[in-house]
Amino acid sequence: MDEKAILSDEVAKDRILNRISSEGIRIRSSFSKSATGQYTYYLGEDKIPPTIEVPQFTDLSELIQAFALAHELGHHYVYQRISRKKARLFKSGMTCTTYWNEKLAWREAEKILKEEGILVDEQTNCSFFKYKTFCLNTYKDQVVHSISSPFKFLFGSVLLLM
Ligand SMILES: [Zn+2]
Repeated sequence: MDEKAILSDEVAKDRILNRISSEGIRIRSSFSKSATGQYTYYLGEDKIPPTIEVPQFTDLSELIQAFALAHELGHHYVYQRISRKKARLFKSGMTCTTYWNEKLAWREAEKILKEEGILVDEQTNCSFFKYKTFCLNTYKDQVVHSISSPFKFLFGSVLLLM
């Protein structure tokens, strides 16, 4: 069996940054995002290229930053693939569609990280899974809170299976 070399976290992050710039996406660092550690993807318009906003200062490890960046790139791929109608639905701010959108972007992120040779060992896979679950849970809680109580349990279970 040929074992793939494990990349350093720094190289992993660089690979994702390179891929982002080769897609014509701009990276903008934001001071205000430093407090929340949030990353955000913005769809481009006529003359404005798509942009990923990243926290200017972060305590996140380089590897986790690579995951977060891959996730935002994942949003870019999802928006490229879906119809306008679906894109509008995703941007509607409804908690269910937001959660669905997040799930799809994480699926893309996993594909990207595999293609870039980053998700090759168990430890990295495990960190990825933990970070993904942590991020998705923040959205899942919003969905569950938005539903009236008799359905909450059922819906929470359905989301896990999506
Ligand atoms: Zn997202």
